[in-house]
Amino acid sequence: MKQFKAESKRLLDLMINSIYTHREIFLRELISNASDAIDKLYYRTLSDGDTGLNRDDFCINILPDKENRTLTISDNGCGMTKEELENNLGTIAKSGSLNFKKENEQKEDIEIIGQFGVGFYSAFMVSEKVTVLSKAFGSEEASKWESTGTAGYTIEPCEKESHGTTIILKLKPDTEDNHYDEFLETYTLQNLVKKYSDYIRYPIKMDVEKSRLKGGTKDEYETYTENETLNSMVPIWRKNKNEIKEEEYNEFYKNKFMDYTDPAKVIHSSTEGTATYNALLFIPARAPMNFYTKDYEKGLQLYSNGVLIMDKCADLLPDYFSFIRGLVDSQDLSLNISREMLQHDRQLKIIAGRLEKKIKSELESMLSNEREKYEEFFKNFGLQLKYGVYQDFGAHKDVLQDLLLFYSSGEKKLVTLKEYVSRMKEGQKFIYYACGENVDRVDKLPQTEAVKEKGYEILYLTDGVDEFSIRMLMKYDDKEFKSVSADDLGLETEEEKQAAAKQVEENKDMLNFMKDALKGKVKQVILSQKLKTHPVCLSTDGAISIEMEKVLNSMPT
Ligand code: ADP
Ligand code: MG
Repeated sequence: MKQFKAESKRLLDLMINSIYTHREIFLRELISNASDAIDKLYYRTLSDGDTGLNRDDFCINILPDKENRTLTISDNGCGMTKEELENNLGTIAKSGSLNFKKENEQKEDIEIIGQFGVGFYSAFMVSEKVTVLSKAFGSEEASKWESTGTAGYTIEPCEKESHGTTIILKLKPDTEDNHYDEFLETYTLQNLVKKYSDYIRYPIKMDVEKSRLKGGTKDEYETYTENETLNSMVPIWRKNKNEIKEEEYNEFYKNKFMDYTDPAKVIHSSTEGTATYNALLFIPARAPMNFYTKDYEKGLQLYSNGVLIMDKCADLLPDYFSFIRGLVDSQDLSLNISREMLQHDRQLKIIAGRLEKKIKSELESMLSNEREKYEEFFKNFGLQLKYGVYQDFGAHKDVLQDLLLFYSSGEKKLVTLKEYVSRMKEGQKFIYYACGENVDRVDKLPQTEAVKEKGYEILYLTDGVDEFSIRMLMKYDDKEFKSVSADDLGLETEEEKQAAAKQVEENKDMLNFMKDALKGKVKQVILSQKLKTHPVCLSTDGAISIEMEKVLNSMPT
């Protein structure tokens, strides 16, 4: 008996003890694995040429057996060798997304499960024993993997006629509170497939008992068995928008992109013309845990005429929209396209350009029609937009500037630049901003007094990247940005300025005395017109503000 790797063991524990309403998803997980396995093999037939396989022969079978209380799910996909069985089913770390972190341990089990996509191990939510028979395509040997849960697993050679994988679940015994028997009912299985796996592009078949009028009679019925295809096989993105319920989109999203929460927004678009494609994009309701780390990989799934050719096509999304999850299906792309070729693909560039516009306009409409939702979105992904402004020397300013929100001293809430400008007072030349750790701190900055006294709004920049992006923007609607720490705030008239200069002249000796006393600590001591109730403030004279200096200093070198 072999032991599971540590993480696998923990996930298994979680899985087995998971809340029962959730456990029905085991079926969708096993079906999507089967579908993935067929995809892999089918893709090979397309790229390698003649494998003797036919697309119409691919299918997934479900076989409930009430007598033995087993549920069997089989596919004729790529199958697994003995080593693959060991690697793929013996350790969860191999199965894509799982990377257990300490901080997750506090969270609810269900959330952890949702975050990672449950995968193969979900079978243990309903089974006391799981048996996997698998034969890799092109291989002579088949192997049997078997496990009763956390204890471990065994692998041994076995007989299997053709390539593919058969998974036999020995269901747990029914108890008063837990009914595993339902997963042997035709009706339940039909419904689960419809609910979670309808879009799977290979037929999911099951023998279904039906009854019909007996030939030659008017009221005598006979039963017969039909091998029924349970799924419609039409991918959701190919369906007509107004035929799809919100719930379907949400289920699809959660299932496909392994999220536990419904998306904040669904963007479904299809176009014809220079580039024909269907796109189904989602804005997640919250940032994935690794979103602001190097581990996060942006990209959309890319399909060519319904066949998955790439899982994360990065070229389809600009960095500042990297939070978008989704897929693109186009008939204009070649199946054999390689990553290198994709980069130069004209079609792909056109599609990427269109998607960018579409995403932008969806965000804008969310901003104007669903403000609260947008602010929630901005809380999650605003930082990414601000980085976007700063990136590539401001090349994306125009796309992004109207999507930004900053806290306003006047409104006491987040505002757009457009809103700020629309409220500018007569004679106000600049868009003022002040930087600091948080709103409270900035609010108390002595430098903000003079501007506030004038009745001008100030944007509070509290994220490290804020000032960098504002400086990259330079102007909005032809109005320059001005830091409240700048020497000349443009608040005074010519006369006031002269009066101030005179005052400096008169107090020269005192100022020089102070400067000497602070030698090496300050560059100069001047009289400031900015201060109202505070006696003194610090300011910088270079291109870099104190706040920017802090950010730069905190960056790893
Ligand atoms: P994921 O699907 O996210 O990779 P799973 O836990 O669902 O994680 O599956 C783990 C791995 O086991 C898969 O990546 C795949 O390589 C392999 N696998 C699972 N089911 C099958 C199957 N029916 N046929 C072939 N390989 C499979
Ligand atoms: Mg899976």
